[in-house]
Amino acid sequence: MRIDPMGCRHAEFNSIVRVSRNFEGNDTVGKPNWYSAELQVNCAACGMAFEFYGVVPSDNPTAPMTDRTGERLKVPIRPRLKSAAAPTIDPLPATRRMLP
Ligand SMILES: [Zn+2]
Repeated sequence: MRIDPMGCRHAEFNSIVRVSRNFEGNDTVGKPNWYSAELQVNCAACGMAFEFYGVVPSDNPTAPMTDRTGERLKVPIRPRLKSAAAPTIDPLPATRRMLP
């Protein structure tokens, strides 16, 4: 039984993470054009959804974004090269770079 969200301390959480391989066009064989991870968080006690703020709603796959409700965070991701010593900022859109 869920408790009333107004009296809930929101102290425990459920989360869903989805990782996707994204392709342009109909070619879904081989390496994808980009990968993405999607995250949702809800209070385990009352079910209230948490919203991601500071990230704008968008359809741009090359930057972190939320859906219109702010309840789904979607972030482009990629495999990290073993030789990479430190994170780098790639100015190229994800759809135009070669994935490792
Ligand atoms: Zn709660």
